[in-house]
Formats: sequence, structure tokens, C-alpha cells
Amino acid sequence: HVKERGRSDFRFYQRQMNIGLLSRMKLDHAMRQALEHQLFRLHYQPQINLHTGDIFGVEALLRWNDKDLGEISPSQFIPIAEESGVIVPIGQWVIQHAIRQAAQWNQAGHVLRMGFNVSALQFQQANFVDLIATTLAENQLSPDRIELELTESVLMRDVDENLRKLESLAKLGVKLSIDDFGTGYSSLSYLKRFPIHKLKIDRSFVDDLPQDDSDVAIVTAIIHLAHALKLQVIAEGVETEDQKEFLQAMHCDEYQGYLFSPAISAEEFEQKFLSKIQSPDCQLRVSS
Ligand code: C2E
Ligand code: MG
Ligand code: MG
Ligand code: MG
Repeated sequence: HVKERGRSDFRFYQRQMNIGLLSRMKLDHAMRQALEHQLFRLHYQPQINLHTGDIFGVEALLRWNDKDLGEISPSQFIPIAEESGVIVPIGQWVIQHAIRQAAQWNQAGHVLRMGFNVSALQFQQANFVDLIATTLAENQLSPDRIELELTESVLMRDVDENLRKLESLAKLGVKLSIDDFGTGYSSLSYLKRFPIHKLKIDRSFVDDLPQDDSDVAIVTAIIHLAHALKLQVIAEGVETEDQKEFLQAMHCDEYQGYLFSPAISAEEFEQKFLSKIQSPDCQLRVSS
């Protein structure tokens, strides 16, 4: 385990150095090139219902393997893409690919929800709701088969304008969740005002479950808060059986994490998991 830590720390430093050596301008240029040459990919992390054990959805996570720089983590390049504005076309690419993939899997008869991350600048675009609606229509995907993950900082930026957008999206039938819940700065009153469906408990609160008393208190409180407000709640970053059992005992609804699977390619997801996902068409055929 220690050895593994060491190795991933080293890889992390290597990436840090690669990125650190580049000016923001060069990195921005590299991202635009990557977009143009289709070097971004989406990987998909399964999300599991804690009551039934079923996979009900996936989170699409952006991957970038640069020819010169190697594999670069989104937590490194997304903030820079956000600053330079290139997050807007990147985000558009994510929306188009995530929705297309979701449509493919759902049209093949698998009931599956596709979650994806939306950055602040992307959400602020005047045509954001239109882009979502148009892409859903083009792919003939039911809006309730996608879930937008927004962070507190995205939501708190321009509250009135955001409220209008969220209401349009919710009216369409799109599901909305708050990512990294509890780590941002925000007031709880927005939970009352915004038409949100789900809270995502940040990994940092899950890491030291069930040993750390503060994390136990925080996670329990978030689950109770969610349920009292009639929201769903999912825990991210679940790595151990103990964490999962704790969440189950606290009646958390869903989880995702390395314990079940990291984010994997579409092909790998299809091979490993897709055949096991509820397929109403098949059930009909069997019973008739
Ligand atoms: P996030 O949305 O909170 O995604 C969860 C991150 O936790 C992902 O990292 C995922 O691979 C990682 N993770 C999942 N399970 C575990 C686990 O059990 N243990 C650990 N240690 N990590 C786990 P990733 O893919 O590196 O993404 C990092 C962040 O980058 C995301 O955090 C999100 O904020 C951002 N991001 C990723 N893809 C996109 C995208 O398409 N658009 C935008 N705007 N942001 C993105
Ligand atoms: Mg997310
Ligand atoms: Mg998160
Ligand atoms: Mg995060």
C-alpha cells in the first residue's frame, strides 16, 4: 500500500512538473489542439444504488492524454481551461459526447442515467439551457436520463439568473445535483430555492469514515439534511467495504468509488457492466 502511494505520488509530481513547465498560454494552446484533434475522451464511473446494489448511472469524467505531456488530470487542466475560457468549447464537447453515449446505451435497452460536470463559465453561457435541450432532442434522449453536476460555487455566482436556468432545466426533466457538497461556500437557503434533486457528499468527508468522528458527524448530517428536504444523496470516493457499510447503515441512497470501479472507457464499461443493467425490453420478451 505504501509502495502504491509512493508510485502515485511520483506520477503526480511528474504531472505537476510537466504542467509547471508550461506557461498558461501554452497549456491553453495545447487544450485547443487537443479539442481539434479529438484527444479528449470520456471515461465513465458506475454509480450504485445502496439499497439494491444495482448500477443506476455513470458519471462522465474527462480524460486527456497529451502526446508530449502524458496523461493530465482534469483537476489540473479544468481550472486553467476555466480561466482562459476554453472550458466553453471543451464543455460543449463533453455535453455532446456524454448525451450521445447515454442515448446509445438507453436505446440499446439499458436504463441508465448519465451524469456530467458543468463548470461555472459554461453554465453562465446564455445559450446553456438551449444547448442541453437541443442536444437531447437531436439524440432523442429523455431529459431524465441526464444529471448535471454543479458545484456550490457555480450556483452561488449569479443566483437569480441561475435560478431561472435551473428551473428551465428542471422543467425539461433534467436531474440536477450539487457536487462536492459541503466544501464550497454557500448558504443553505439555496437548497430551498433551487430545484435540486441530489447532494453529492464530497470525497474528503468519506475518506476517513468510519474512524473519524467529525466525518461521521458531517456525513450523517448531510444524509439527514438531504432526506429531510426530500433529496437523494450519493457518496463519492468510496474505497472500502467499511465505508460502504457505514453509508448503508446511515441510509445513504447511492455511492460511487474505486471500491466498485474507477472511471473506465465506454468499451470496458460495456464489457464489464452493461449486460447486467436492467433492460426492460429483455424482460418483456422473456415474459411474453
Ligand atoms: P468530481 O466531479 O468531484 O469527480 C470525482 C473525482 O474523484 C474524479 O476525479 C474521480 O475519478 C475521482 N474518484 C472517484 N472515485 C474515487 C475514489 O474512490 N477514490 C479517489 N481517490 N478518487 C475517486 P477526476 O476524474 O480526476 O476529476 C477531477 C475533477 O475534475 C472532477 O471532480 C471535476 O470537478 C473535474 N472534471 C472532470 N471531468 C470534467 C468535465 O467534463 N467537465 C468539468 N467542468 N469538470 C470536470
Ligand atoms: Mg462530479
Ligand atoms: Mg465531486
Ligand atoms: Mg471534486
